[in-house]
Amino acid sequence: MKLLEDRIRRDGKIRENGTILKVDSFLNHQMDVALFNQMGKEFFRLFGGEGVTKLLTVEASGIAVACIAGQYFDVPVIFAKKSKTKNIDGGVYTAPVESFTHGGVYNVMVAKEFLQPGDRVLLIDDFLANGAALEGLISIVAQAGGEVVGAGVCIEKAFQPGGERLREKGFRIEALARISSMSETGIEFC
Ligand code: 5GP
Repeated sequence: MKLLEDRIRRDGKIRENGTILKVDSFLNHQMDVALFNQMGKEFFRLFGGEGVTKLLTVEASGIAVACIAGQYFDVPVIFAKKSKTKNIDGGVYTAPVESFTHGGVYNVMVAKEFLQPGDRVLLIDDFLANGAALEGLISIVAQAGGEVVGAGVCIEKAFQPGGERLREKGFRIEALARISSMSETGIEFC
């Protein structure tokens, strides 16, 4: 999506020797709602024919983009909550996720009442890097007996293995901007 690529080129900041892209001026701290609206429309163009019944994301950065996309899909939007607690009561589906940006492992959880067998779930997130966040969400949908129709992410760092691994497993992964490489001197898109 050219609009997003142009914005990343203009306002993205590269950190940690070219491994982390900071987009907090328009995506995950200050938010450009007009851009989110175009991204939501694009996710609907890509997945609107898939009979999606729920959108599922993970707090916090995925929530805004999923909500705006949800207005196009006209289905409930669920966000998985993050918890460091190991003891979680029986009313939730839960999966461990290794955090790329913060290190360590946290659990994601969704109350059982919000996902049912037969649900056709589209996963939404801001970034795809190693794929741990999406794999946690995939596990939750599987526990509920639902089906993952695919994942829509705003930015895929294609030089990390998550996207390829998930596509090899047969999941449809659509990224609105796919970065093949980045360094202090610039960003290349696939
Ligand atoms: P993964 O689980 O695919 O390794 O990483 C996905 C999560 O890590 C995303 O939800 C996002 O919050 C965070 N993340 C991964 N890479 C980046 C990055 O380069 N920049 C930012 N801002 N967040 C990232």
